[in-house]
Amino acid sequence: MKNRAHRTSGKNFNLYSHFADSFAKTRDKVVLTTVRGQEYSFDRIDKLSGRFANYMAALGVVPGDRVTVQVQKSAENLALYFACLRAGFVFHPLNPGYKKAELEYFVGNAEPALIVCDGDKEKQITSIEADAGFRHVLTLNADGSGTLADGALAASDEFDTLLRGEDDLAALLYSSGTTGVPKGILLTHGNLLANTEALVKAWGFNANDHLLHVLPMFHAHGLFVAVGCTMLSGASMRWLATYDAKTVISFLRECSVLMGVPTYYTRLLAEPSFTADVCSTVRLFISGSAPLREETFVEFEERTGHRILERYGMTETNMTTSNPLEGERKPGTVGPALPGVEVRITDDDGEVLPAGEVGHLQVRGANVFAGYWSMPEKTAEDFTVDGFFKTGDMGQIDADGYIAIVGRNKDLVISGGLNVYPKEIELFVDKLPGVRESAVIGVPHADFGEGVVAVVVTEDGSLTDEQSILQTCRQGLANFKVPKRVVFVDELPRNTMAKVEKSKLRDLYRELLS
Ligand code: AMP
Repeated sequence: MKNRAHRTSGKNFNLYSHFADSFAKTRDKVVLTTVRGQEYSFDRIDKLSGRFANYMAALGVVPGDRVTVQVQKSAENLALYFACLRAGFVFHPLNPGYKKAELEYFVGNAEPALIVCDGDKEKQITSIEADAGFRHVLTLNADGSGTLADGALAASDEFDTLLRGEDDLAALLYSSGTTGVPKGILLTHGNLLANTEALVKAWGFNANDHLLHVLPMFHAHGLFVAVGCTMLSGASMRWLATYDAKTVISFLRECSVLMGVPTYYTRLLAEPSFTADVCSTVRLFISGSAPLREETFVEFEERTGHRILERYGMTETNMTTSNPLEGERKPGTVGPALPGVEVRITDDDGEVLPAGEVGHLQVRGANVFAGYWSMPEKTAEDFTVDGFFKTGDMGQIDADGYIAIVGRNKDLVISGGLNVYPKEIELFVDKLPGVRESAVIGVPHADFGEGVVAVVVTEDGSLTDEQSILQTCRQGLANFKVPKRVVFVDELPRNTMAKVEKSKLRDLYRELLS
């Protein structure tokens, strides 16, 4: 684990204690309303989490144990997360879409004491039980029923939330794994508290806010950013289990904040019924987890008058930068570093680069994770000696301190010894007539090592063709950056967090230039 000085300030860092403090005088306030209008007061969620915590503890789960959770999004899912925070268990959420082979990896790696899964997954989970050595399986269905709820019924709803230090573990999330083997990211109560406090301040969250929560609960965005800001500010949320543009439009009229991935915004724009009027109660639209296209930002402002606030983060670092609440939100940038977070750009040798230059983005601060689960070498490799985490993203800082993400360094294409940043070519190609969006990749090339390929989605009915795109690229880009080929697809492959899966495209077009 990362070498970090333990501060013994005596402060209680348990994230849940801070949530509970925010509702100390408003325990009856409805904090969560489901899509069907079921209401959960803070008091109800608190008591449910108390029962769950008591029941799990009675089964023999102890602080520091991992609790793997593969369930649908529900109010009980939220209470289970809170129960783990309260009892010092390490919450390990998984995408409900994972299949058996993926589960075997995660469970084998996390070594949980308890797995909570949907009733219809129980068989699958128990079939991997023998090898993985975990002790208990409980079920929690989308409607809140299951053996967790049954068992917890007899347990007391009062639970003394444990005192936690800054470095005590709160959660284990795996990198989304668009490249390589997923790594377990250890997040502490200190990480989550510091970041949530910074976000509440930066985005002006307060008890009057009503968040439209549409994000999944197995990813940092929905789990820490969305739930964290709501709970720490004593606000409330409308809770939708899945994203559907029409449903979002129907609930936006009662909400003050929407958090989403860029696809949420493009899909809203595709609905003619999405108008400025629909947004009359909204004070803030936030986007993150993948790059927001400048065209989307502009079109959204034209349609609604709102400038989407784009922020940047990753599971390992929580949120690191954000465009401001007050002040200029620059499209194509993710804003300056959040207070308490240091961001720097370095060259390949780790030398810090001046403003304007593209390089490796590194982050340091209380928000940065404790290390990779049972991968000390990987952890050591990804931190500099002075404690900065190497994000693997390539970025650039402008004279005002605003950061632009230029691509992942694994994304980087090296053609004939020269570096090509896919994002730069994508921005260029995206602006061409008839192009809706593009993804630029490097594929093996006999002469140059790698050659640039543009994978393009065209606007409906567009007549643009490969030659006309290549010709314009030749006019506007240095030769080495001009794609060797342009291929057309109906849509780009994306993972659940809306990131383009470039590894799939690389596999698909591996032979294209041979
Ligand atoms: P995850 O850990 O799944 O949240 O993925 C983190 C990665 O998503 C980062 O390392 C970035 O590559 C990417 N990312 C997140 N937010 C943004 C953003 N606003 N713009 C561009 N890339 C982003």
